[in-house]
Amino acid sequence: MNKLSVKVKNLVIGGNSPIVVQTMCNTHTQDIEASIAQCKDMVAAGTQMIRLTTQGLDEVNALRVIKEQLHAAGIHIPLVADVHFNSDVAIAAAKVADKVRINPGNFAQVHKDAAVQFKKFLEICKENNTAVRIGLNHGSLGEEIVNKYGNTPLGMKEAVMQWLSMCKENDFYNVVVSLKASNTVVMTEAYRLLHNAMQEDGMLFPLHLGVTEAGNGDQGRIKSAVGIGALLKDGIGDTIRVSLTENPVNEIPAGHTIANFFESGENEILLDSVMAQIRRGSSKPEAIISVNSALCGNTDTRSQDAWNEFIIKASCLFGPLLLDKQIDDFDAVPNFSHAHNHDHECEHTNEHSSDHESNDAEEQIFVEMKKIFSADRLVEFKENLMQAARRKFTHPEYIACPGCGRTQYNLEQTFNEVKRRTAHMKGLKIAVMGCIVNGPGEMADADYGYVGQGGHKVTIYKGKTPVLKSVPEDQAINALIKIISES
Ligand code: SF4
Repeated sequence: MNKLSVKVKNLVIGGNSPIVVQTMCNTHTQDIEASIAQCKDMVAAGTQMIRLTTQGLDEVNALRVIKEQLHAAGIHIPLVADVHFNSDVAIAAAKVADKVRINPGNFAQVHKDAAVQFKKFLEICKENNTAVRIGLNHGSLGEEIVNKYGNTPLGMKEAVMQWLSMCKENDFYNVVVSLKASNTVVMTEAYRLLHNAMQEDGMLFPLHLGVTEAGNGDQGRIKSAVGIGALLKDGIGDTIRVSLTENPVNEIPAGHTIANFFESGENEILLDSVMAQIRRGSSKPEAIISVNSALCGNTDTRSQDAWNEFIIKASCLFGPLLLDKQIDDFDAVPNFSHAHNHDHECEHTNEHSSDHESNDAEEQIFVEMKKIFSADRLVEFKENLMQAARRKFTHPEYIACPGCGRTQYNLEQTFNEVKRRTAHMKGLKIAVMGCIVNGPGEMADADYGYVGQGGHKVTIYKGKTPVLKSVPEDQAINALIKIISES
């Protein structure tokens, strides 16, 4: 099998290279100072590649300055231009960025002669050694594909295969592909279909994995870990982005936790143990993820970082089994008799270390975990994981974009407020999207949507219909709640 690798500056994606962790700025790219500051924070947090919104020629120019200033500061991180629609912008960006992401659905929507424009674009990429991402999203497929296959994983796969064949016709192979969706079932199915199709075709282009519009906090991390983990477990995926509606710097440790979990072989060891529990007849295998016992000595295990590490690893382990219906449930609160006690957790560090070497290591890991995290928190985690794997819905389903240079308002704050006000509305799908350009398409099958329109105005959607336009920002959450409660 020809497993291709793609070079983005000095970084190799695909082939036999380790998983690359990347993120995206949410600054306005023309705000050069803010964008550079965010890039520096991202590099310090360990990102290996950074994407910036490049919707117009002004942003391409800003990207050039950002690149020069980062170089002057000794930072040579590969930069990716996020273009979406306009081939002229894509062509200009290909002369500046190390990689250009286009969304083929949007590209085809704007250009009747998309194939001709795409050929021109690839020629410029070749001349400049610029890599390309064909970044397709569920919800923004081209009209022709939707008419033929519907807005389905099959349609997503078919669309990508068409664009890959155009790449091959133009003898261009420096291409990474993504097929993101917010729904983990749709997302994993689309990637698997594509992986199989590429395998049959004899050429595996590298895959960029991500669950789009995953939201924030525990739910965003869990959903991302389930979707990405299900594919990495099967050896599918070469670079990942954990999209969070938070400061994008937070995406990086989450991405590395997922990548390390699979690269280090930890997944295989734990999975063997879970499968052994299933073979012994357990219908609810237990969560045996421990926060690395070293953490207990060096770091506060009650910290948010320790919790994030736990939920991401446990989601990577159990999420795929739930998603693929290999198990129906799991037990996040194993059979411990003692109550949780924060105050004593680190007193037991030495005891745990030696116990890890005993034959009863597995059981001791459970004990350690229970001492660290409260039962309530573990139950909430379990509910979030069941929902992320789409097995049991106990909360509203939130679809929130991570925000980018197109975002028109304080997305993070608004999303948190929408979540607070709608937390009781189990069964509803509520979208909060940063911009009117991509937001409506990408909120897919949400029941209601809050979409930034620009100029401090918001459009409220009911299904795919904009029911209130130009609502002033300070009244928009109330308007959304009113529309929901009147329905
Ligand atoms: S919906 Fe708009 S604001 Fe949100 S990430 Fe996508 S392009 Fe950016």
